Amino acid sequence: MTESAGATEPVTAGVEAGATQPATAGVGAGTVLPGQREHAGVFTNWARTVRYSARKFHRPRTPEELSALVAGSARVRVLGSGHSFNRIADPGPDGVLLSTAGLPPMTEVDTAARTVRVSGGVRYAELARAVHAHGLALPNMASLSHISVAGSVATGTHGSGVANGPLASAVREVELVLADGTAVTIGRDDARFDGAVTSLGALGVVTALTLALEPAYEVEQRVYTGLPLEGLDFEAVAAAGYSVSLFTDWREPGFRQVWVKRRTDRPAVDFPWAAPAAVPLHPVPGMPAANCTGQLGVPGPWHERLPHFRAEFTPSSGEEIQSEYLLPRSAARDALDAVDGIRPTVAGVLQICEVRTVAADPQWLGPAHGRDSVALHFTWVRDEAAVLPVVRRLEEVLDPFDPRPHWGKVYTTPPAVVRRRYPRLPGFRALVRSLDPGGTFTNAFVRDLLDG
Ligand SMILES: Cc1cc2nc3c(=O)[nH]c(=O)nc-3n(C[C@H](O)[C@H](O)[C@H](O)COP(=O)(O)OP(=O)(O)OC[C@H]3O[C@@H](n4cnc5c(N)ncnc54)[C@H](O)[C@@H]3O)c2cc1C
Repeated sequence: MTESAGATEPVTAGVEAGATQPATAGVGAGTVLPGQREHAGVFTNWARTVRYSARKFHRPRTPEELSALVAGSARVRVLGSGHSFNRIADPGPDGVLLSTAGLPPMTEVDTAARTVRVSGGVRYAELARAVHAHGLALPNMASLSHISVAGSVATGTHGSGVANGPLASAVREVELVLADGTAVTIGRDDARFDGAVTSLGALGVVTALTLALEPAYEVEQRVYTGLPLEGLDFEAVAAAGYSVSLFTDWREPGFRQVWVKRRTDRPAVDFPWAAPAAVPLHPVPGMPAANCTGQLGVPGPWHERLPHFRAEFTPSSGEEIQSEYLLPRSAARDALDAVDGIRPTVAGVLQICEVRTVAADPQWLGPAHGRDSVALHFTWVRDEAAVLPVVRRLEEVLDPFDPRPHWGKVYTTPPAVVRRRYPRLPGFRALVRSLDPGGTFTNAFVRDLLDG
């Protein structure tokens, strides 16, 4: 892959230089973009499971350079922090892979309006620190803050909480550079808005987003251990805190851990179903708890408790493939029983499964579009040949519950089936055609979904 001159600029923003970072990662090592991994000139995703096939890589340093580059290219995909597990960001061999990480980072906080205008390539860790310094907060975060804002909302990334929508639900305005190099801003009062945030990167380069904020708050986090599946009142457990995550390795019919995050400005947690842990824990068996955010009920700032993993450490296990499916929350119990029915198959290649909730989302391509959802997440071992047959089997047992795969993770559901699960997909297709008639930002992933 060739790089533009700007791409070899040293980068200092690597937030993944944690003690347990795998030695081969090279992240934050000067010439590598933060969060993206480079080996002998080949760029891969964070997990090193996808090699981007693009032969050209560009990192423009000014808005003018960005516009000229896009206008002069037939096929472009933007890479955020590279944390997706599939080819969603890959432009293909004839396309240009473009990073916005070289543009001047911006976090403009408007304390009166309680909003922040943030450049697309900024990561949640930097964004959170900037808004917290103004006494403000985001409503929710994903399990990690290492991910870029534009890349996260483009794939419908979410945290947990029965009343919390995905990260995209905080967006008030999107600023895009279109294929001809011109800029457009789409705000909430624009009829196109609900197609423009969770956009799979198919509309243009997201240069900035305006997000709604609220006054800063504190969160305390407690982990409970040993919650059986039998007799589980999922609705009650999921609603026991502001954000609740259940973890199982499916070796037993139940949950090893339940992480309950409570805002200290909300009622105390009553959790009669399992015992509180006496020491901090990591959700992935064998991984160090030092990588995780503060537990044992010690209150801390929202951005140091809502993610599971500390920004300066490797999130999750670091050696993995991920899959995730969002289904109607009302089906949670039946869906968990269905997975329990193939427990040995799943457990054989699983590191950990996390169960979360996401409130309904108006974004046309939001995986929680139009329905309060339960999200069944699977962190697999990093062995595609062993994992894919299990993913297929899992999709078979979840099929009756109309599961929508996470756009940034591994799934085998045919595009035609995925398409049927999004009632507003025709509107999204029309939006792509109107904003990008030449298909500059359409790659194989998007083409298969919209037209395949
Ligand atoms: C360890 C780990 C933990 C995770 N935890 C969670 C979690 O808790 N919840 C969850 O929902 N997901 C989670 N994910 C998945 C992750 O949030 C998504 O894959 C997300 O898209 C990552 O953001 P990114 O910036 O790395 O995106 P990338 O993978 O770089 O890109 C994703 C998509 O966004 C597009 N894009 C990126 N930037 C722009 C831009 N500026 N303009 C236009 N398009 C753009 C790309 O073209 C691509 O289509 C996790 C992933 C990992 C590796």
